[in-house]
Amino acid sequence: MSENINILQTVIIGSGPAGFTAAIYAARAEMNPVLISGMELGGQLTTTTEVENFPGYPEGITGPEMMIQLQNQAEKFGTKVIVDKVTEVVFGSNSKEFHTIKTSSGNEYQTHTIIISTGASAKYLGKEFEDTYRGGGVSACATCDGFFYRGRNVVVVGGGDTAAEEATYLAKICKTVYMVVRKDYLKASKIMQERVEATSNIVLMYNHEVTNLKGENNLVSQAVVIDNLTQEEKILDVDGLFIAIGHSPNTDIFKGKLDMDETGYLTVKPFTTETNIAGVFAAGDVADKRYRQAITAAGSGCMAALDAEKYLTSIGH
Ligand SMILES: Cc1cc2nc3c(=O)[nH]c(=O)nc-3n(C[C@H](O)[C@H](O)[C@H](O)COP(=O)(O)OP(=O)(O)OC[C@H]3O[C@@H](n4cnc5c(N)ncnc54)[C@H](O)[C@@H]3O)c2cc1C
Repeated sequence: MSENINILQTVIIGSGPAGFTAAIYAARAEMNPVLISGMELGGQLTTTTEVENFPGYPEGITGPEMMIQLQNQAEKFGTKVIVDKVTEVVFGSNSKEFHTIKTSSGNEYQTHTIIISTGASAKYLGKEFEDTYRGGGVSACATCDGFFYRGRNVVVVGGGDTAAEEATYLAKICKTVYMVVRKDYLKASKIMQERVEATSNIVLMYNHEVTNLKGENNLVSQAVVIDNLTQEEKILDVDGLFIAIGHSPNTDIFKGKLDMDETGYLTVKPFTTETNIAGVFAAGDVADKRYRQAITAAGSGCMAALDAEKYLTSIGH
């Protein structure tokens, strides 16, 4: 079934800070944007209780509240928000053609431009304790949540570059950072390894794994770790557990169709949001493995809307 037979000017895929910011700009530029939200309306920030680093909220704001405000702002200027999931995109091969978006509810949308802002999901260990203590000590973002643990002890799980970066960042804020590494070596680049080893308040625990968390009222106060060679159990007095085992960009539906790097992040032309296909733009975490913040996602959402608007003008729309 086709809901729209007209060719739209722009469709935004994803409802995080990148998608809604793109929508605000596109709507105010009379591009009549349709935003397909995905199943996580509001994106990653809806899973956090406190955002203190987004400019304009000196008292802080909860993630869900902030995302409702962004949605309201986008809708106020005329964005049509559709709660649905994109399952396939058929890209037109030149600017005279349009792109077709198919969704899980069976709708199809034809559009001259697409702004992809499908985000990247943090990888978790898949253990029950992560769900129990999420928002009460378990995090996957040191830049976002490290400040809440200043002067306290935390655990970082992982041995790659992400973990080494998170541990060195947290070491500047926290008292002690236990870096729990499953193997007997760090996978991180040499320079990051050296940085970790040279930081006096990072305690490296090779051949260890976190098996459980303890605490009251869903607030972490201890981590149970096990030496995976001797099976010896140890208790660490910590208030936070940072899972740093990487992120997965939500780009499966674009594989083989859009240029991406070896880890699946969409690649764009430098200083723009342009992908390798004319009229298709990428914004936010889906094309950014470096910063992954709400403000940078919002900034690139703005860029994508401006790029799309320029493109529409260039093809006479
Ligand atoms: C627990 C936590 C706390 C955080 N705290 C902070 C903080 O305090 N400050 C900060 O700046 N950043 C924080 N971040 C990071 C921040 O949330 C992200 O950088 C930001 O949300 C990225 O925005 P985005 O728009 O690129 O993508 P996301 O917010 O990830 O949104 C992606 C969107 O794409 C949609 N989507 C995915 N696939 C499809 C599909 N096939 N079809 C349609 N839609 C799809 C999803 O439903 C979702 O709406 C935090 C992240 C987490 C996980």
